[in-house]
Amino acid sequence: MSLLIKNGEIVTPDERYVADIYCEDETISRIDRKIDNVHAGEVIDASGKYVFPGFIDPHVHIYLPFMGTYAKDTHETASRAALVGGTTCFIEMICPARGDDPMEAFELWRGKAEGNSACDFTFHMGVTRYDDDAEKKFREIVKRGIASFKIFLAYKGAFGINDEELFATLKLAKELGVIVTAHCENAELLFELQKKLLSEGRTGPEFHYWSRPPIVEAEGVHHLMTFAEMTGTHVYIVHTSCEESLGEAMRGKTRGVNVSVETLIQYLLLDRTDAEPNFEGAKNVMSPPLRDKKNQDVMWKALSDGSVATLATDHAPFDWTQKQMGKDDFTKIPNGIPSLEDRVNLFFTHGVKGGKIDIQQFVASASTNAAKLFGLFPRKGAIKVGSDADLVVYDPNYRGTISAKTHQMNVDYNSFERMQIEGRPHVVTVRGKVAARDGKFVGEFGRGKMLEREPTHF
Ligand SMILES: [Zn+2]
Repeated sequence: MSLLIKNGEIVTPDERYVADIYCEDETISRIDRKIDNVHAGEVIDASGKYVFPGFIDPHVHIYLPFMGTYAKDTHETASRAALVGGTTCFIEMICPARGDDPMEAFELWRGKAEGNSACDFTFHMGVTRYDDDAEKKFREIVKRGIASFKIFLAYKGAFGINDEELFATLKLAKELGVIVTAHCENAELLFELQKKLLSEGRTGPEFHYWSRPPIVEAEGVHHLMTFAEMTGTHVYIVHTSCEESLGEAMRGKTRGVNVSVETLIQYLLLDRTDAEPNFEGAKNVMSPPLRDKKNQDVMWKALSDGSVATLATDHAPFDWTQKQMGKDDFTKIPNGIPSLEDRVNLFFTHGVKGGKIDIQQFVASASTNAAKLFGLFPRKGAIKVGSDADLVVYDPNYRGTISAKTHQMNVDYNSFERMQIEGRPHVVTVRGKVAARDGKFVGEFGRGKMLEREPTHF
């Protein structure tokens, strides 16, 4: 199996040049200005196109029992959507219920992905309970190649952990060199706000925002910063939505906390009014909620200057029927905005074409930084000899429109419906094999592998 990609402009965070790339078996074996003396099984002409390292989505939910139902994608539909959109690797959250055994949860999630996913994958291990037995299992799970944890400061009574557990989790992570990703919102405050709003008859999706205002998220970030400062643990704030939270993270960083920040494509392009004014807005209910539009410039700027490290999706697809579970009570709307497929094209269109982010920083935010933070670099997130041949030959001249009618995700709406895109992957490869071509999936279900990762955060 060999593949030759000719005349593309290779773009990574630290290099930008025109060259040919030769891949043998599953890895990149040569990069040169001209490679002619090889016998390639397939030759791809990338003239006038970019060649990016495969994009990485560090925050997705695929198998997800949540709020009394299950997210709609399988690892087949999710990996197909990811690949068509240029994402060649994702990191899924293992979210056991509080009473579940962590090792059984790990095996369950792994079993759902293995044999089904068409792209490579790994997991953040959800710590939703901490006791002696759970600790033993977490140590074993880290040995099996999971180098990151996920904790929830929100979702009281479900995934959320208390401060005693938070402290113990961070201490264990520090000892093992594991990075801790965290959903930061103050559970008690939002619970009180939900109760108050519902008691006043404010039940529509537009009140979801008011139950989780920026200050509730910022308090969660501040709380995590304090604990991380006490333990020295490296932490990563998922789905940062607003200026207030970013400010708390940056203040933590200033006083020496090792913190990295993630934001989502949804927060850059949608705002609070997209979850209003009637129940249709339930499609755009997620947590933290979509914010006031003024936050968009703040997050774009932070991505551009690197204070936000990664752009993810928090992909969690629930269809319109499932969203109706919250018809009379916004707290029962399954949270999530499906976006795994559209992240890269929207980010390229609005960021690179829109002049908001430099193209090399775009690659850093959507691929390389996640690889570095989560122990995948330079196997992923790089175009180097020896790296996995996960490549995206990207056509910057493509023009198209996003629609649920044509998307690959297994959900019956698209929050970015009718948005124009300027750019799309022409060819996407997974370890040397073409898996998507011009919007069509041509990959192989079950070929994706779990990536075993070594802890790097000591
Ligand atoms: Zn999430």
